[in-house]
Amino acid sequence: AKADGRGSLRFFSPEIMLRARERLSLEAEMRRALERGEFRVHYQPQLHLYERAVTGLEALVRWQHPERGLIAPGAFIALAEESGLIVPLGNWVLREVGRQMRAWLDEGRAPGYVAVNLSALQLGSEGFVDSVQAVLRENGLAPGRLELEITESCLMADRSRAIATLETLRGLGVRLSIDDFGTGYSSMSYLQHLRVHRLKIDMSFVRDLETNPGNVSIVTAIIALGHSLELDIVAEGVETPEQLARLQRLGCDLIQGYLIGRPVPAAEALDLRFAPGHP
Ligand code: C2E
Ligand code: CA
Ligand code: CA
Ligand code: CA
Repeated sequence: AKADGRGSLRFFSPEIMLRARERLSLEAEMRRALERGEFRVHYQPQLHLYERAVTGLEALVRWQHPERGLIAPGAFIALAEESGLIVPLGNWVLREVGRQMRAWLDEGRAPGYVAVNLSALQLGSEGFVDSVQAVLRENGLAPGRLELEITESCLMADRSRAIATLETLRGLGVRLSIDDFGTGYSSMSYLQHLRVHRLKIDMSFVRDLETNPGNVSIVTAIIALGHSLELDIVAEGVETPEQLARLQRLGCDLIQGYLIGRPVPAAEALDLRFAPGHP
């Protein structure tokens, strides 16, 4: 442990100080970015395999950094969660999606719904239901136009309160889906406690569908489970025609992935052909 003879200094190494400072400055920069309107929402299509049309879109946040260009959420979401910034950021995404949906409706070419990713902190924040209702009301949107994607972490902190909040939202007509299904330890248990509309099969199961028989078994089981609960199944991360064909044979309802379309700005998302009459 004292190989370099300076063991006790390790915690104060310049590298670690720098990392702490980088974090702080990134946090401060994100705060400013939110004020300056540097965040963007991109939209990725979900193709309904039976209707053979795009029925809805998933909203994915990006940071249009003035010097560093477009930054994917992997680089800032974790820090946003740690710092609490995810609450104002997540609420901004929600308002932006509401505004965009209204604009699409006014143009007469709206997707059936937009799915928004929800963070645990945001779900637990004071007045979350009210802010969702405000977005729907201010934009004159039917609640079914909004889908909330929840992950296991959403139910971790204050489980009964989180479930109560989600049930309230479901009662209003907002759609719920479980994201990254199959990756957490308690995927099954939240199905027991919370009624949702959809399961999204995590892309790690889709990835080696062709080469890993274990993944075929898992996907088959998730689809059977979901269908027995009358839920729609969405597979994410679909990149090849082979994956699509296999998922279709397995009875998957919707697919999302680069094969169908990458996340793009709202203006390009309109180029897609939407299914008529949704929701
Ligand atoms: P996620 O919700 O699981 O979103 C799916 C991620 O997979 C997205 O990455 C998407 O761009 C990417 N993806 C889609 N199709 C494919 C494919 O065919 N192949 C591959 N390799 N990737 C594909 P992205 O946009 O970088 O987002 C990463 C994560 O950041 C999201 O994972 C979500 O957990 C989080 N996130 C994004 N936007 C928000 C937001 O507004 N709020 C919150 N709380 N989290 C968000
Ligand atoms: Ca998601
Ligand atoms: Ca996911
Ligand atoms: Ca994820």
